[in-house]
Amino acid sequence: MNIEQQINKIREELRQHNYNYYVLDTPIISDYEFDMKLKELQGLEEKYPEFYDPNSPTLRVGGEVTKNFETVVHDYRMYSLDNSYSKEDLLDWEKRIKKLVDGEVRYTCELKYDGASISLTYQKGVLLKAVTRGDGIQGDNVTTNVKTIKSVPLKLKGDFPYRFDIRGEIVLPYKGFMKMNQERIEAGEEPYANPRNTASGSLKLQDSSETAKRPLDCLLYSIVGEKTGIVTQFENLEKARKWGFKVPEESKMVNSIDEVLEFVEFWDKNRHDLPYETDGVVIKVNDLQQQDELGFTAKAPRWAMAYKFKAEQASTKLNEITYQVGRTGAITPVANLEPVSLAGTTVKRASLHNADQIAKLDIREGDTVFVEKGGEIIPKIVGVDLDKRDQSLNPTIYIDQCPECSTSLVRKEGEAQHYCPNFEGCPPQIVGRIQHYISRKAMDIEGLGGETVALLVKEKLITNYADLYELKKEEVIPLERMAEKSAENLVLGIEKSKMIPFERVLFALGIRYVGETVAKKLAKHYKFIDVIVAATEEELVGVDEIGIKIAQSVVDFFAIEENKNLINRLKSYGVQLEVSAEKLASQTDMLKGQTFVVSGVFEKVSRNELKKMIEDNGGKISSSISSKTSFVVAGANMGPSKLQKANTLNIPIINEEEFLSKIS
Ligand code: AMP
Ligand code: ZN
Repeated sequence: MNIEQQINKIREELRQHNYNYYVLDTPIISDYEFDMKLKELQGLEEKYPEFYDPNSPTLRVGGEVTKNFETVVHDYRMYSLDNSYSKEDLLDWEKRIKKLVDGEVRYTCELKYDGASISLTYQKGVLLKAVTRGDGIQGDNVTTNVKTIKSVPLKLKGDFPYRFDIRGEIVLPYKGFMKMNQERIEAGEEPYANPRNTASGSLKLQDSSETAKRPLDCLLYSIVGEKTGIVTQFENLEKARKWGFKVPEESKMVNSIDEVLEFVEFWDKNRHDLPYETDGVVIKVNDLQQQDELGFTAKAPRWAMAYKFKAEQASTKLNEITYQVGRTGAITPVANLEPVSLAGTTVKRASLHNADQIAKLDIREGDTVFVEKGGEIIPKIVGVDLDKRDQSLNPTIYIDQCPECSTSLVRKEGEAQHYCPNFEGCPPQIVGRIQHYISRKAMDIEGLGGETVALLVKEKLITNYADLYELKKEEVIPLERMAEKSAENLVLGIEKSKMIPFERVLFALGIRYVGETVAKKLAKHYKFIDVIVAATEEELVGVDEIGIKIAQSVVDFFAIEENKNLINRLKSYGVQLEVSAEKLASQTDMLKGQTFVVSGVFEKVSRNELKKMIEDNGGKISSSISSKTSFVVAGANMGPSKLQKANTLNIPIINEEEFLSKIS
């Protein structure tokens, strides 16, 4: 077997394992084995760039950055669906159909997935483009992002047609959604409202490696194209499944509207067991010949109908509105309800989001309210039953003082949330910040948990995270449920945290909006905490991907004298507040102020290595050529449009050798 065959063989194997894992949900090798194979392939691809394949499984991790998504016209229009809400609606629809077509009519029932609709075009079995629905006539080309979704096949199997579009929905399963929100909460950010908006937002991220990190899934439900050789919708689904697409198994072929209703009733009850959100059923005339005869109205196919599930609602009494204070001081109003059963769980609390939400709905303590459960984790209040309102109830006056420390609340221009500004003295903020500091993704302090932190604060042994480093074993032992050994471990765990690298320390400080990724960027760019402390808003905004909101928050944080003191103390204890010497050695300022565009395939180093070298030496990387570009580093197969643009703008084009000599 020659090298090319060997590379292709591993690619094929990886494709099959990807399929087993992401489409069939039944992996047959361990994650470790998969990673090893992937590494092997990466190695070979780097060594033999002449066998580059834009659909290689190694490209699933993303990395390409899109500034503006190109608008493309759909080959076949993406229609909307008519809605129905009752058996009568469906019988009326059937009557209309029977007037227009002859013979028996059968139906395919599918679930209506609630995500972002997508149209994928395949040619010769290879994914050509992925386009959002847009206005149905044209949408945005989001191919680079969609390629990172593991259940989207980049190459098909079996007897697929030469060219076709396949439509489906990009969804974010509940589990992944909750995990993402957990991470956002840890970073002091607002959690995302629901999986659907988060899924569609994910398709429009500029950095595809960010999309790659999101646990998105792609469910397919219809094929369009000429000469596909398929005669029914149900067969459509079965074929697509054979070509390697993820086609949900819940779909069913039925013979009558009564059977459609059975399907609807079944899934209305059981849909909550599915891993992703659904909001109804889509019923399609099964025979494609009949579909053709029925055609389309201006807006939707005549041969399909959506049946919307009723949102699960319950009404109950609102006993009290209480207010929670988060670690960043953000206030969240919470509705405490008379317990009521909703979608299989008992609901006692619901989020009220913020003051505007309460004012908009005019919610008052004592009201009877409607509670709904959507994709959100916490149920929400959607309205007040005004018929049941007791006229003696007082309008809600939003608190203007912190419920925990009585400090006057503030609300920044343009923000929905109120904040308690008592950074130093507000108990839940103090405890929350230290809990964040010790958490797994931050300083990962072994032997110390959230409850112990609360206890240490209560006993006045610590009031901030720097105090941790002065804790003595003897002080800890007398605490509740502490023994000599656990006290020892606690002190040891704190000691060990002095080894944690700077970027994680920066995240641990708990600066609002500075999550893991932002902390990494800042650490890499500034290298020393003192430089970050001194940075102005304008300077911070100049750092790649740091927006004004983050910049302001960083400046605000270090404007607080107490925070500067904490940093100095951490430094004196030996906590890592700069990039380690070892890491620094591989970094220089040689390319400072220069912007590079990297294009094509390289021989000595991989594209990613090349990009890393640019960044490590202080240069910036951009995805498109503009007058701001300093150099284009060109490898083999550089795109012709890039070449032309570089020439027009007089941007110097250098090859790999020339680049490497710049930094050596
Ligand atoms: P609507 O947005 O309410 O007009 O509904 C139409 C949308 O439903 C389509 O654009 C699809 O994104 C979505 N949809 C979800 N599941 C299905 C399905 N099984 N068949 C067709 N469309 C579906
Ligand atoms: Zn407070």
